[in-house]
Amino acid sequence: MSDRVTMERPAPAGAARGRSAREEARTGLYVHVPFCATRCSYCDFSSGALSAAAVERYLVALEREIALRAQLAGSLAFTSVFFGGGTPSALSSRHFRRVWRALSAAFTIAPGAEITLEANPESVRPALLDAWAEAGVNRLSMGAQSFVPEELEALGRIHSAERPAAAFAEARAHGFRRLSLDLMFGFPGHTPERWRHTVETALALEPEHLSAYCFIPEPGTPLGNAVLSNRQALPTAEEQAGSYESLAGWIEPAGYAAYETSNFCRVGGEARHNLVYWLRRPYAGLGPSAHGLLNGERYGNHYALERWAAALEAGVPCEAERERGDDRAIALEVMMLGLRLADGLDRRDYAQHAWAAVERRYAAAFGHALATGRLEATAHGVRIRRAHAFLADDVIAWIEARADRAPAGPRGAGEERAGSTSNASAERTFSTPRGAARGLTVAGNTP
Ligand code: SF4
Repeated sequence: MSDRVTMERPAPAGAARGRSAREEARTGLYVHVPFCATRCSYCDFSSGALSAAAVERYLVALEREIALRAQLAGSLAFTSVFFGGGTPSALSSRHFRRVWRALSAAFTIAPGAEITLEANPESVRPALLDAWAEAGVNRLSMGAQSFVPEELEALGRIHSAERPAAAFAEARAHGFRRLSLDLMFGFPGHTPERWRHTVETALALEPEHLSAYCFIPEPGTPLGNAVLSNRQALPTAEEQAGSYESLAGWIEPAGYAAYETSNFCRVGGEARHNLVYWLRRPYAGLGPSAHGLLNGERYGNHYALERWAAALEAGVPCEAERERGDDRAIALEVMMLGLRLADGLDRRDYAQHAWAAVERRYAAAFGHALATGRLEATAHGVRIRRAHAFLADDVIAWIEARADRAPAGPRGAGEERAGSTSNASAERTFSTPRGAARGLTVAGNTP
C-alpha cells in the first residue's frame, strides 16, 4: 500500500468512537423469520402469510438447519444473535421460546451477547415482551418508516403513526434499554416537511439507534412497479440527497452520529450484529434467504420458505449458493463493506492475509482516491470523507473501477474531485444501501 495510506497520523476527532463496538462484534448468528401479517407495498424480502401449518413447517425445518449449522460452527461463541425477517414478532411466545430453546442448546452464545429482535410496532405486547426478555433479548429494532398517516398507508404499513410510541413505552416498561427505529425516505410523495415531522417524532422517542434507508423501487412490489412503470414519481436524486443531509443536521444536536451510511446512534449504541457483517467477520444465517460466512465460505439459503423447507425435509442442502472467495473477492468485500463505516477501513480489524489482499488490490486506487479527495487517511487506514458519506457507494464503485486499471501515480488533486459526482451517480448510490444489506442479510428491513 502507498505511503499515503500507511503513514501513521493522529486519529481525527471522533475516530475512537465505536472502536470498542468494533472489537465486541466478533461473530453473528442470524435467524430469518419469514412471516408477515400483511405485505408492505415496497418490500420484496422473503416473507409470506402467517398460518399454523406454515409456521409448524418452518419450525421443524429450522430445527433441522440449526442442528446442521451448529456442527459447522463448531466451538464458535456468538457475540450477537439477530432475529430478522419478515416479522419475528409475528411468532407467538410459545413458538419463539421453541426457537430459542433449539438455538441455545445447539450454539454457544457468548456471555453478554447482543440479542436483537425485529418487531413490528403493531405486534409488541406484554406476553411477547416477557418471552423475549426471558430469552435474553436485549435489543429491539422496530420499523416505523414514517410518522405521517398518509405515508404509512401508501407504504402498506399496518400500524398507525401513534403505535410505535406505545410499543416503545411497553418495551421500556419491560426493561428494554436498547431500542432502534427504522425510517424510510425518498419514496413517492415524500416531502421535506413530512420528513422533518417523522424525524422529530422519532427523536422524541429517544431511540438508542436509528436506521434511515432510501426507498428502492423493487420490481414485483406494488410500489416498485408503480415507480418503474412511471405511474408514480420518485423525488429527484437531489431531493433524496437533501433528505439524507437534513437528517444528519437534525439528529446530530441530539447526540446521534452516523457510524455507517444508513445507521446512526448515540455513543456506544452501534449494532454489534451489523458490525459483524460490515467488518466481514464470521456469521451463521438460518432460515429461508439467510446468508452466512462460516469457515471462510459464503453461502445463501434458498429464498422461498417452500424450497428451503423442502430441501431440509429431503435431507439435501438448503443452500442456493456457496462459494469460497479468492483473495480478490475477500479484498473487494473488505473494501466495499468497510468503507461504508464512518470510521472506514482500519487495518486492526482484519486478519493479516485479508489486509494484505486489500493492499495488493487497492493500494494504488486508494492513493488516487486520497489525492482526489474521495478518501482521507486515518491513523490506521482510510475512510470516506464525511461530506461524501451519502455518495459512499459511488466512491466504492470508483475505487473498484480504478483498481481494475494498471497501477499509476496519483493524479493531481484538482482532477475528478469526489464532489463533482453526477446526479446519475447519486441515484445509484441511493439505490444501494438496502440492496447491499439484503445480499449480506444485514438487518435493514425492520418489520
Ligand atoms: S417491510 Fe417488514 S413488515 Fe413489511 S412486508 Fe417487508 S418484512 Fe414484512
